[in-house]
Amino acid sequence: MTKMSFIKYDQSCDFPIQNLPYGVFSTAENPQHRIGVAIGDQVLDLSVVKELFNGPHLSECRDVFDKPVLNDLMGLGPPVWKEARQTLQKILSADDPTLRDNAELRGRAFVPQSQAVMHLPANIGDYTDFYSSIHHATNVGTMFRGKENAIMPNWKHLPVGYHGRASSVVVSGTPIRRPCGQTRSDESKPPTFGPCRLMDFELEMAFFVGPGNNMGEPIPVTKAQDHIFGMTLMNDWSARDIQKWEYIPLGPFLGKNLGTTIAPWVVTMEALASFAVPSISQDPKPLPYLQHEDNFNFDINLAAAISADGTNGPATISKTNFKYMYWSMKQQLAHHSITGCNMRPGDLLASGTISGPTDDSLGSMLELCWKGTREVSLGNGITRKFLKDEDEVILTGYCQGDGYRVGFGTCTGKVLPAINSMQ
Ligand code: CA
Repeated sequence: MTKMSFIKYDQSCDFPIQNLPYGVFSTAENPQHRIGVAIGDQVLDLSVVKELFNGPHLSECRDVFDKPVLNDLMGLGPPVWKEARQTLQKILSADDPTLRDNAELRGRAFVPQSQAVMHLPANIGDYTDFYSSIHHATNVGTMFRGKENAIMPNWKHLPVGYHGRASSVVVSGTPIRRPCGQTRSDESKPPTFGPCRLMDFELEMAFFVGPGNNMGEPIPVTKAQDHIFGMTLMNDWSARDIQKWEYIPLGPFLGKNLGTTIAPWVVTMEALASFAVPSISQDPKPLPYLQHEDNFNFDINLAAAISADGTNGPATISKTNFKYMYWSMKQQLAHHSITGCNMRPGDLLASGTISGPTDDSLGSMLELCWKGTREVSLGNGITRKFLKDEDEVILTGYCQGDGYRVGFGTCTGKVLPAINSMQ
């Protein structure tokens, strides 16, 4: 039977009772950052209803809902997450009178999402970006090295990634300044300094680490799911011309640290469990420390849109799916920690750009415009190759259930003009 809440919403709502993502919010009246859960167009303030968490685990540690970030809840692990979800589904259900029939408590516990100011859901100690979509890696490799050398020899043996910059991860809605930097647009001349000319987005998803591991003690791939709290949408803004000149031999640096945007809501792995699909078959078979048999890939519909001066609202430029990932999150986490690298609750690990197999499922402007060789239409005769100032990029995602959606909200950001301090 379909679960129902006493909070009303329609079938296309991102936040039905089957979802219940966590976020951190404040309001004009109460600037304190609080943990909330999205339901319909409301936020349930968990600091107000924490006494209702009476299960064996949370009755001992419900103060976790008084924290201004989710790190402590993330660190508690699957049995506690499961108990929290059971309590939330109970107190929000149409059958339960606790909140439904208590107008005074409801008045304090619910905040309309339109009045909630969303913040980063966790203190992100470390942020890593992988490169795990085979279509994206093939496209970019083909552009820069030709079809024969598109996939590097290591790519199918390990999830390639780089250590990113946690300080520049921001929440959806934060404007992103076009960076200045060193580029070399003419390879017969020395490099020059100035505003990035090839500003791009990358449609990605990321997961938050739950319980960490002690340094020196890797997380085995077969236990990795116990260390994954939930997922969010992510835009890894990229300055392609800066990246192209700087990236050899150590990989991305300033082309990537101008800002990375995540959506405010973290959808739990419990909410995603019914949307698990088989992993892409891996040939060659990875080494044993990267092997797992269970389905840990997910059918998540993703889209990127641009809202620009002259468009009729957001123009969808790409539709792709998380299920195109070659390496699973479990493999990414096992690989990341195999050296003994210590992961901590709230660490953010991202997928890399998620491109599908077709021309309308590409996850970056670099691929959509094929390195500047074709125009991307935004309608109304407006076209783009890379992003212009004031363009807003909007990422969305959802899993389609039977009569409901488990959605991720939106991940947005607008490009501001560069400030060239050297002029
Ligand atoms: Ca990326």
